Amino acid sequence: MIKMIQASTLNALMLGNFDCTTSVDSFLKEADTGIGTYTGLDGEAIFENGVAYRATADGNVTVMSPEDGVAFGTVANFDTTVPVEKLENISSIEVLKEKLAPYVEKNPNIFYMLKATGTFGKMHVRSCYACEKPYPTLSEAASHQKEFQYQNVSGSVIAVYCPPYVEGINLPGWHFHFLSQDKTTGGHILGLQADSLSLQLNPILDWELLLPENPEFASRDLCEDLSAKTAAVEGNAKH
Ligand SMILES: [Zn+2]
Repeated sequence: MIKMIQASTLNALMLGNFDCTTSVDSFLKEADTGIGTYTGLDGEAIFENGVAYRATADGNVTVMSPEDGVAFGTVANFDTTVPVEKLENISSIEVLKEKLAPYVEKNPNIFYMLKATGTFGKMHVRSCYACEKPYPTLSEAASHQKEFQYQNVSGSVIAVYCPPYVEGINLPGWHFHFLSQDKTTGGHILGLQADSLSLQLNPILDWELLLPENPEFASRDLCEDLSAKTAAVEGNAKH
């Protein structure tokens, strides 16, 4: 059975807990695919084929070291033997979500990991700058986010679907990250367009949560309803 492994909670990240939850090495011990962010909110994390990539706010992609820290993330050991589905005429991220809905609506109360490859006519991503302590909230940090728009770029969308009841712990619905095929560009997806995509979807029934051991996490109230702020920070372009 495929297991979804998660580091920290989304509310902790929202409130500015950007400390290390786990190392890249241990996070990927039983997983090879997923998304997240690193210690200090230093770039967007894309885990592909067991490699930890970081898409930074200066528009580059670097490979992380095993000892580097993951602040928040969601990964799984992706089953590449599942059937490949084709999606056509994906004119926007909203259309992509609509086209994914039939795959999820059979059971929206479990998790899904998605990997989609293709050439994107448009790819609009963002990444955040690394933050210094005392850390700001994610909303404050994201107000300085850098956005990049690429045309005709090939690569992978790696995305996680979480059920609605995880509000506060992870992001309900879809959360998409991008990594170009040449591993030079990537980030958290704000918009996209593609004529055709090949995708594989893993339904996931097993969810493991790794919690931070740091004092900031210990002292926070993580019950606040941040859902409106979360939706804004994860979905919005700055302009
Ligand atoms: Zn993201």
